[in-house]
Amino acid sequence: MSDVRQLLVAGAAALGGADGRFEAELLLAHALGRSRTWLFAWPEYVPGEAQRAEYERLLRARRDGEPIAYLTGSRGFWSMDLAVSPAVLIPRPETELLVELALARIADDRAVDVADLGTGSGAIALALARERPQARVLATDASADALAVARSNAQRLGFGNIGFALGDWCAALGASRFDVIVSNPPYIEAADPHLAEGDLRFEPASALASGSDGLDAIRTIVAQAPEHLRENGWLLFEHGWNQGERVRALLSAAGFDTVHSVRDVEDRERVTLGQIAR
Ligand code: GLN
Repeated sequence: MSDVRQLLVAGAAALGGADGRFEAELLLAHALGRSRTWLFAWPEYVPGEAQRAEYERLLRARRDGEPIAYLTGSRGFWSMDLAVSPAVLIPRPETELLVELALARIADDRAVDVADLGTGSGAIALALARERPQARVLATDASADALAVARSNAQRLGFGNIGFALGDWCAALGASRFDVIVSNPPYIEAADPHLAEGDLRFEPASALASGSDGLDAIRTIVAQAPEHLRENGWLLFEHGWNQGERVRALLSAAGFDTVHSVRDVEDRERVTLGQIAR
C-alpha cells in the first residue's frame, strides 16, 4: 500500500523533468480532492483504490502531453482561481500586463463600460470586474462552450458587474458603445510549428491561430472597434512579440491616436493600444 509520500516520489519519476515533482503534487491533490498543502501535512495517508487509479490516470494523461490546467480543471490568474476546460485558452501570466494597462484607463469612481472580446475563461473580464466594482464589463466569445466557462467563473466568484454576449469580435456588441475595449485574440501564424508543441496542441485552435500572418482577428477588431468606442475610448490588445510595428500601422490607418506598444517583462512588445478622439 503506497502512501502520499511514496506516490509523489513515483509520480515525479514517471513525469520526469524539472516540474515533475510539482506536477505530481498537483495531480495527486486533485485526485484526492485536497489542496497541495494538505499532502505535506498527511504524507502517511494511504489513498483508496479509486483515488489511486484516478491519480494514475492523471499521470498517464500528463505524460501524453495534456496540460495540467485541463487535468485539474483550474488555473490561477490575477490571484483568482479560474475553472478552465479544453473549450478555452489556458490563461497566461503575461496577459496580466493587458489587465494592468486596461485598469490604468478605467476610472474607479464611475460606471465605465468595458468590453472583453474573445473572453475564453473570462480571465481578463473577471480581473477588470474585480478591480473596478463600478465598471460594467461585457465579456464576449464566439464559442458558446467558452462563454459557459466564463459565466460559471463569474457566478462562482460572485461578480455582479459582468455580462455575457455570444458572437464574433465586435458583432457580439450590437449597437453598444464602450469606453474601453480589450482583447487577447488569437495571433499565432497558422503555420507556426509551436502550435504542434506542448500545451498548445490541446488548446482550441480558434483561440491561438489567426491566418497566415496571425493578424486576421486583429485586423477585424481594429476595423470594427471605432464604431463601438465612445469619444476618447481606448482599444488595447495583446499580440505576438514581432507584430508591434504592423499592429501600430493598422491602428493608425483606422484612425486611432496615441498609438503605442508596451513591452512585457521579457522586453518584448506584447500589448498595443490606441485611442479614438473624434
Ligand atoms: N501567448 C500565447 C502563446 O504563445 C498565445 C495566446 C494567443 O494567441 N492569444 O502561447
